[in-house]
Amino acid sequence: MSRRMDADIAVVGAGLVGATAALALACAGFEVCLLDAGPAPMAPSTEMDLRVLALAPSSARLLADVGAWARMDHARICAYEAMHVWDAETGVDLDFDARLIDAQCLGWIAENRHASWTLWQALAESGMRTFMDVAVRGYAAQDTHAALELDNGEYLRVRLVVAADGRASSLRQHAGIPVAGRDYGQRAIVAHLAPERAHEHAAWQRFLPGGPLALLPLADGRVSLVWSLPDAEASRVLALSDAEFAAAVAVASDYRLGALSVTSGRAAFPLRLQVAQQFAMPRLVLVGDAAHTVHPLAGQGVNLGLRDVRELVEVLSGAGASGADFAAPAALARYARRRRSADALDAWSFDAIERCFGARARPLVLARAFGMGLVQHAPSLKRMLARHAAGRPA
Ligand SMILES: Cc1cc2nc3c(=O)[nH]c(=O)nc-3n(C[C@H](O)[C@H](O)[C@H](O)COP(=O)(O)OP(=O)(O)OC[C@H]3O[C@@H](n4cnc5c(N)ncnc54)[C@H](O)[C@@H]3O)c2cc1C
Repeated sequence: MSRRMDADIAVVGAGLVGATAALALACAGFEVCLLDAGPAPMAPSTEMDLRVLALAPSSARLLADVGAWARMDHARICAYEAMHVWDAETGVDLDFDARLIDAQCLGWIAENRHASWTLWQALAESGMRTFMDVAVRGYAAQDTHAALELDNGEYLRVRLVVAADGRASSLRQHAGIPVAGRDYGQRAIVAHLAPERAHEHAAWQRFLPGGPLALLPLADGRVSLVWSLPDAEASRVLALSDAEFAAAVAVASDYRLGALSVTSGRAAFPLRLQVAQQFAMPRLVLVGDAAHTVHPLAGQGVNLGLRDVRELVEVLSGAGASGADFAAPAALARYARRRRSADALDAWSFDAIERCFGARARPLVLARAFGMGLVQHAPSLKRMLARHAAGRPA
C-alpha cells in the first residue's frame, strides 16, 4: 500500500515570494506546507528596515487577496505618485505620473521585514504547517509525487514542490537547471537619509555611468537610497564618514532633494542577472529569485515573483478543477511557458537599460537621449510602460 501524501504542495523558502505562494495556494484549496532553512521572521522594530521594496499595484492586490495587505501598518507604507528619471550624462528627463494610468499612485514603498512579518501573521492564522530552521537537501521526482529530503533526516512526500529558495536555489541546482546571466560587478548600497526638500511622494532615479541611484520616498518624510556602484567604488563609498557619505549622495543625486543627512546604517548587496533556463521539471516549479534575479534599477524583483505566484495558482487550479492531477507535466509546462517568457523579457530589458546607461560612446549617449525624449513626449508609450510596471495589461 502506498504511503499517503504529507501535503499537496511543499513550498520551499519562506521569503516574500514563498510565503505569498504558500498562502495563495492554500486560499485556492490546496493543502500546503512551507519550509525554510532560516528562523521565522522577527517583528519589525520601530526603526525602519534598511531593505525597502517598491511594490506594484499587482503585488498589493495579491497581498490583499492572501490577507497580508490589510494587516500592514499603513502609516509605515508610502504611496508614490510620480517617478522622475534623469540621465547624468545628457540631463534628459523622463517623468511618470499616476494620473497617466488613471491611478492614485504608481505603487508603494514598504519595508521588507514589515511585509514578511504581516505574511507570517497571516500564515499563523491560516494554521498552515510550517517547518522553520529546516533546509531542503534535495528532491526526487516520481510519476505521481516528489520526495523532499530534509537536513534533519526526514522526508516529505508531496505532489508538487515549489522552489522559492532564492537566487542560490539549491533545488534549482539539484534539478540541474542551468541559468543564463552575468555578474554586474556592482553592489547596491542602501541607507535612509533625511532630505532638505520634500520628496513629494515621488521616486527619484538618476542614471550615472557607474550605475543608477534611486531615492525612494518613505512615509516619515525620509528617503531610502538604492545606489548601484562598481564593486571598488562601492567599497570606497561604504568607508566614508556619514557626513562625507551624505555629501556624496547629494552630489550624485544632483541635489534634486537638496542637502541630505544620514539617519541609518548602510548595507550593500552584490548584483547579478540570472534567469533559469527552465522554470519547471517533473513535480517541481521555480518562482521568485530562484527563477530570476534582476537588477534593482526597475524595483521589480519581488513584483515579478508575485506575478509568478498569481500565474501558478491560476494554472494549478485550472488543471486540478476536474479532479485531474494538478501537477501533471502539461500544467507545469503551461506555467513555465507563460512565466519564463514574461520574466526573461523583463530581466533582459532591465539589463539592456543598465548597459545602455553605462555606455559612454557618443552615438549610444545620443541614441538614449533621443529615446528618452521620445518616450517623454509620447503619452501612449509612457502609459504602456507605466501600465506594464504596475502589472496591468498594456
Ligand atoms: C538592493 C535591492 C533592492 C531591491 N528593491 C526591490 C524593489 O524595490 N522591488 C522589488 O520588487 N524587488 C526589489 N528587489 C528584489 C527583491 O529583494 C528580491 O527579488 C526578493 O527579495 C526575492 O524574494 P524571494 O522570496 O524569491 O527570495 P528570498 O527573499 O531570497 O527568500 C528565499 C528563502 O529561501 C530560504 N532557503 C534558501 N535555501 C533553502 C533551502 N535549501 N531549504 C529551505 N529554505 C531555503 C532562505 O532562507 C530564504 O528565506 C531588490 C533587491 C535588492 C538587492
